[in-house]
Amino acid sequence: MNILVINAGSSSLKYQLLNPDTKELLAKGLCERIGIDGKFTYKPQIAGKETLSAVDVAMPTHAEAIKTVLNTLVDPKNGVIASMSEIDAVGHRVVHGGEKFACSVLIDDQVMAAIEECIPLAPLHNPANITGIKACEEVMPGVPMVAVFDTAFHQTMPARSFIYAIPYEYYENDHIRRYGFHGTSHHYVSQRAAEILGTPIELLKIVTCHLGNGSSVDAIAGGKSIDTSMGFTPLDGLPMGTRCGSLDVSIIEYLMENHNMSIEEVMNVLNKKSGVLGVSGVSSDFRDLEKAAAEGNERAKVAIDMFCYKTHKRIGSAAAAMNGIDVLIFTAGVGENSAELREKIASGLDFMGLKIDHTRNQVHGEEALISTDDSRVKIFVIPTNEELVIAQDTARIVSQK
Ligand code: ADP
Repeated sequence: MNILVINAGSSSLKYQLLNPDTKELLAKGLCERIGIDGKFTYKPQIAGKETLSAVDVAMPTHAEAIKTVLNTLVDPKNGVIASMSEIDAVGHRVVHGGEKFACSVLIDDQVMAAIEECIPLAPLHNPANITGIKACEEVMPGVPMVAVFDTAFHQTMPARSFIYAIPYEYYENDHIRRYGFHGTSHHYVSQRAAEILGTPIELLKIVTCHLGNGSSVDAIAGGKSIDTSMGFTPLDGLPMGTRCGSLDVSIIEYLMENHNMSIEEVMNVLNKKSGVLGVSGVSSDFRDLEKAAAEGNERAKVAIDMFCYKTHKRIGSAAAAMNGIDVLIFTAGVGENSAELREKIASGLDFMGLKIDHTRNQVHGEEALISTDDSRVKIFVIPTNEELVIAQDTARIVSQK
């Protein structure tokens, strides 16, 4: 079985073709600048096939982008499958499922309507995801499609975790609550850890740190997300590449009044100019920050210290939410690659039974146990694989049809 996984943005579309049973990746790539000048990237994973990097292809709409992907996948010379009939289903990443979806679902008219109803909760992301689904329906009629939601895994959170302390009618009428994101990633790495340990996930208390451009920490008790750091939107929680994370909301009022800024301008600052970029003035990329800090840049050092300290505290709070911790996991760009940041974050947690092993920790982008032999809590690096989860969910749901 081959599943096409689609992650559609407003002017971009990431894709992967993979076999969820063998976990074999056949091809992956990216359509960028859709509706502008169209750049197409294709990375076949089969020897002898040619990679295309950001080549010019006219893609006025998402439907044209999907057509380009399909034509390339079945191209007699450079393709990885013989015909479109070898694509059994499409799995779509959908950012927001609100309270309507606690798991992945087969897409039909009702599901589409429900995803549209969630647009006010994710005005930038859900419309792009819907465009991607409609484009696939147009170009691949009759091929089953499944929606996999970033928020679904967190629907198990109890009210005490998801309620904000504002008048209850804003929750009842406007659905303002903590939703949490990166669910597919937290779900995948927690299950992988249980598999590696050979322990049923029902018996484990796991804290997952998804640290990338966007970052979140999740508390997973018995395989269920019970508290998470991202909130109503992905702006909440940890400081990130360019996002501020949790902050005193009075700062918004102060900026508007004292800098004569509109709410749009303030939100733009908090989403795009804050986080480690805003503090360091150097970059949102942790590689640049680590380099600048090593060269003596004080603000880069403060930005890294702040990010590590707040992540460190979040791990403590996730453990408190579960009255314990058995496993700590690092994943995503920073979590998988930066030994220095992992060590800074996980040090000073020996009171909870966590001891990171300096030598074992020197790994990049591979699964590894990085705690000492006498650490009560197992610490892992587990590369995330959101596309594989989407493909596996899609295959499972389609075969139940
Ligand atoms: P996204 O949240 O966009 O999916 P990723 O999970 O790909 O992001 O993470 C991207 C971030 O990972 C980059 O901004 C970069 O700071 C960080 N990163 C990647 N490789 C390294 C590395 N070797 N050392 C430190 N940080 C890294």
